[in-house]
Amino acid sequence: MRANREVCIGSGLCVLRLPELFDQSDDDGTVVLRRADPDPGEATAVIEVVGNCPSGALRFDS
Ligand code: SF4
Repeated sequence: MRANREVCIGSGLCVLRLPELFDQSDDDGTVVLRRADPDPGEATAVIEVVGNCPSGALRFDS
């Protein structure tokens, strides 16, 4: 999984849905990946989060 912090608008939706995988920078609120490789059991939720990200900052190749 990749996150483009230049594109992220800091909405925090990813952090609300999957706090074990996503965090937000204390400096500017942009996304920080806690883990770049989700477990297989997390893939469905990750795909949902990527699809719902309002900025298109997230990419996941399952
Ligand atoms: S959902 Fe998208 S725009 Fe919102 S914080 Fe996460 S990566 Fe950034």
